[in-house]
Amino acid sequence: MDRLSPAEAPLTFGEAAAAVARETEKLTPARPEPEPVDLLDAQGRVLAEPVVADRDQPPFARSTRDGFAARARNWAVGGPLEVVGLLRAGEPWSAGEVPAGACVEIMTGAPVPPGADSVVMLEHVSRDGTQVRLVPERAAGAGDNIVPAGAEARAGATLLPAGSRLHAHGVAVAAACGYARVRVYGRPRVAILATGDELVEIGDTPLPYQIRNSNTYTLAAQVRALRATPLLRAPVADQAEALQAAIREAVAGCDLLLLSGGVSMGKYDLVEPALGALGGRFHFTGARIQPGKPIVFGSMEGGLPFFGLPGNPVSTIVCFALFVAPLLAWLGGERGYRPPFVQARLETRVRGKAGLTRFLPARLTHDVAGSSVAALAWQGSGDLASTAQANCFLVAPERGEDLLPGDPATVLLA
Ligand code: AMP
Ligand code: MG
Repeated sequence: MDRLSPAEAPLTFGEAAAAVARETEKLTPARPEPEPVDLLDAQGRVLAEPVVADRDQPPFARSTRDGFAARARNWAVGGPLEVVGLLRAGEPWSAGEVPAGACVEIMTGAPVPPGADSVVMLEHVSRDGTQVRLVPERAAGAGDNIVPAGAEARAGATLLPAGSRLHAHGVAVAAACGYARVRVYGRPRVAILATGDELVEIGDTPLPYQIRNSNTYTLAAQVRALRATPLLRAPVADQAEALQAAIREAVAGCDLLLLSGGVSMGKYDLVEPALGALGGRFHFTGARIQPGKPIVFGSMEGGLPFFGLPGNPVSTIVCFALFVAPLLAWLGGERGYRPPFVQARLETRVRGKAGLTRFLPARLTHDVAGSSVAALAWQGSGDLASTAQANCFLVAPERGEDLLPGDPATVLLA
């Protein structure tokens, strides 16, 4: 196929993202079989079964305060109520209806006894022996400080659908519903193949003109964050036959192939021709983004998806977050994954470039008043030292105008 100069990359960021989404939907989701795992091991994994309420939640009308349970209108007359019992959380009440003129001392989390329809907080009564009365400025209303049985969820209701990624609050609801073990989708396998004559392994000492292969590890970390399995392949030189052999080996037994380097316009950027020679089809070659312009996306014969990611370390990180993560999340069974874009107030000036969507390493800080973001100084898409300080990328829109301090800005969390 024709190779386009990245400057002529035909697709905008939005178009490239849409192309990935379109091709992603053609892939079989959740290819590795579901497996049952202990609840805590399911954290971060994708549910292959819904979490269903096994009983009403709460299962009984629950007091949300330490106080006194009674019929609200009995408080209203203003006279004292006789304390006829005490109910702790985890205790049943077997003494029948609370009589008019009486109340039951009750603890947070205890079942409200029959005959009572309100709980008055401990702090809102005065007590004299076995009698309590409302303090003057307080009133009691039916339903006060009680969550009725089934108000949060009815037995049988789906509380988390299959295809949700299980975060801590999901662990909470699964635990409450008795899921000691839960079925999650298997982990997609992602082959990672770095290319480049200049690369040495991270444990080796590079010669002055060599660099360590960091991209394999970056990608492996990003793959793992989505609870997929990285398959680390030995880096390969910029040499046509060696590349083809390495790709042929890498595609066996994986669900996704990630290549790093060798997709630009240089004389030794041989990844595209190697993929083409092996029957790879390209959905796009290049996107109008910076960093990451030379990115290629396609499928091998048989449908295995691949990305050729530009070798610059920051391009690799950004392209993964923008394009690889949604596809990989889908393979892992997750529904509705979107790259995490949020809004923040800009603290620094950001230079736009017309026709290019830029993703600049930046630091996002939060407080109760909101989030603000500052671009970091950097030397371009090879600058890992600066990017290591970043917790997000500031988006400079393709319209190209500069963004100024105080402007609202879009940020990619990555
Ligand atoms: P390329 O995409 O092959 O033109 O490489 C672009 C830049 O990224 C060059 O400066 C490479 O040395 C660097 N690079 C390529 N592959 C890696 C890698 N695996 N780890 C770190 N840097 C890399
Ligand atoms: Mg190279």
